[in-house]
Amino acid sequence: MRYISAPWRADYVRGSSAVKGCIFCQALKGRDDRAAAVLWRGRRNFILLNRFPYTPGHLMIAPKRHLADFTEAGPDERAELAELFGTALRVLREACAPQGFNAGMNLGASAGAGVTGHYHLHVVPRWTGDSNFMPLVGDTRVFIEDLDTTYQKLRPLFDHERRRRGRTGAALSRTPAPSR
Ligand SMILES: [Zn+2]
Repeated sequence: MRYISAPWRADYVRGSSAVKGCIFCQALKGRDDRAAAVLWRGRRNFILLNRFPYTPGHLMIAPKRHLADFTEAGPDERAELAELFGTALRVLREACAPQGFNAGMNLGASAGAGVTGHYHLHVVPRWTGDSNFMPLVGDTRVFIEDLDTTYQKLRPLFDHERRRRGRTGAALSRTPAPSR
């Protein structure tokens, strides 16, 4: 087994006290998607990599609006979240052939949410035995693959999904409105 350092961790620890406000809103505001690890910008939601991945490819889907609770989301936000969840599963399967996934939300600090003001769906690819070979450093698991390597692997696949779809949200807008 090879113990490795997590090169992005030092940056985070150094910068964390300087970071003001919400990490999701800040990632969304930035123009450099690679620097912010943003993989997808949809109409209502966006996808970004978790800087402290549980496994390589651990990503998050969050609304563009700063919403603390999923119950505050509108129908469009919920529908697109579900759509992007499917996209994320497809991309991760293609990129790293996981044997399973964990997906879920931690709502509220008591539930383990690191960021409580902006809800986000975690999508974590899993492999049999992955929790055994990943060493824990502090409360953070570290990996052989650094974040930018993961980003460079996943971004072209998300871009391919976008081209396949034609344009952002095309799959959603083709869905007929419910008749009343
Ligand atoms: Zn926010």
